[in-house]
Amino acid sequence: MSIRFDGKVAIVTGAGNGLGRSHALELAARGAKVVINDLGGARDGVGASSEAADSVVAEIQAAGGEAFAHGANVAIFSEVEDMVAQTVAKWGQVDILINNAGILRDKSFSKMSIDDFKLVMDVHVMGAVNCSKAVWEIMKEQKYGRIVMTTSSSGLYGNFGQSNYGAAKMAVVGLMNTLAIEGAKYNVHVNALAPTAATRMTEDLMPAEVLAMLVPEAVTAGALTLCHDNAPSRFILCAGGGGYAKSSIFETDGIYLSPEQQNPEAVVANWEGICDTANQAELETGFKQSEKFLLKAQAYLQAN
Ligand code: NAD
Repeated sequence: MSIRFDGKVAIVTGAGNGLGRSHALELAARGAKVVINDLGGARDGVGASSEAADSVVAEIQAAGGEAFAHGANVAIFSEVEDMVAQTVAKWGQVDILINNAGILRDKSFSKMSIDDFKLVMDVHVMGAVNCSKAVWEIMKEQKYGRIVMTTSSSGLYGNFGQSNYGAAKMAVVGLMNTLAIEGAKYNVHVNALAPTAATRMTEDLMPAEVLAMLVPEAVTAGALTLCHDNAPSRFILCAGGGGYAKSSIFETDGIYLSPEQQNPEAVVANWEGICDTANQAELETGFKQSEKFLLKAQAYLQAN
C-alpha cells in the first residue's frame, strides 16, 4: 500500500531548511500541494530571508509538483492568517499542517535571559498555536484535518541547557492532547513527532559520522505516517536515524488515603503503592484522573 497525498493541501512551517524541507519535498513528491513557510532567519531566530523557502519551491516545481512560499513569522498571528488566506484563495482548502518551525537559544537556566526564554516559547508554542488556530475552523468545516506538532526528546525528558526549548516542546504535547480531543468528532487528527536528525540545529552537537546516519528523510517517513488519511490521533512518534518508537505518559493506579491519613507523613509511608506500576494506564482526559480518585474515595466510604 503506498501512502499518497493527491488532492491534499499541506502547510509546512519552517520548510526552508532541515526537517521541514524534507517533509515538504516528500509530501509534494507524493501528490500534495505544499505551502513552504519559512521566515528565513538564523538558528537563533535572528534575521529573515525568502531565499531558503524559494529554493524549496523551485525544487518541488522542477520535479513537477505544486508549491508556493510564504514568509510568515509563525509567532505573529496576523502573518499566519495571511498565509492561510492565501492558501485557501489559491487551493481552496487546508488538509495538513506540520508545525515544524523552530529556533534554539540554549543556555543553562542560570545564564538564560527571560528574553531568550520568551522568544523560544513564542516561536515553538505560539507558532504552533497560531498556525493551528488559523486552520482549525477550516479543518472542522471540511471534516478533515491532520496536524503534526514537532516536539523533542528535550521536552519529553529534559536536556541540560534547554529549559526554554524543553518547556516549549512539552507545551506542544499539551496542545496536541486537547486539540486531539476537540478535533476527534470532526475527523481532525493531531499528533506529535519527536525527531532526531542532522540539520543546522544539531550540526555542532554530534560528530560527523553520527550526523551522517541521522538523515532527515528517516524522520520524514515518520512525519508522513502522522498526517495521511489513516493517521492515528494523539500519538507521539519518536523518529531518528531509522529508529521509530512511541512515547506516552502513563499514570500509576495510585492509592487512596482516608481523611485522617491525608497528611505528608502518610503520603511518604505509602510511596511504594503510589509508584506501583502494575496497573498503570494512559488516561484519555484529565477528567479521567479525577474520576479514578473519586471512585477510590467512594469505594472507601462504602466500605466504612
Ligand atoms: P532548522 O533550523 O534546519 O529548520 C528550522 C526552520 O524553521 C528554519 O528554516 C527556520 O528559518 C524556520 N523558522 C524559525 N523560526 C521561524 C519562524 N518564527 N517562522 C517561520 N519559520 C521559522 O532545524 P530542524 O532541525 O529542521 O528543526 C525542525 C523542527 O524539529 C524544530 O521544531 C526543531 O525544534 C525540531 N527538532 C529537531 C531536532 C533535530 O534533531 N534536528 C530534534 C528535536 C526537535
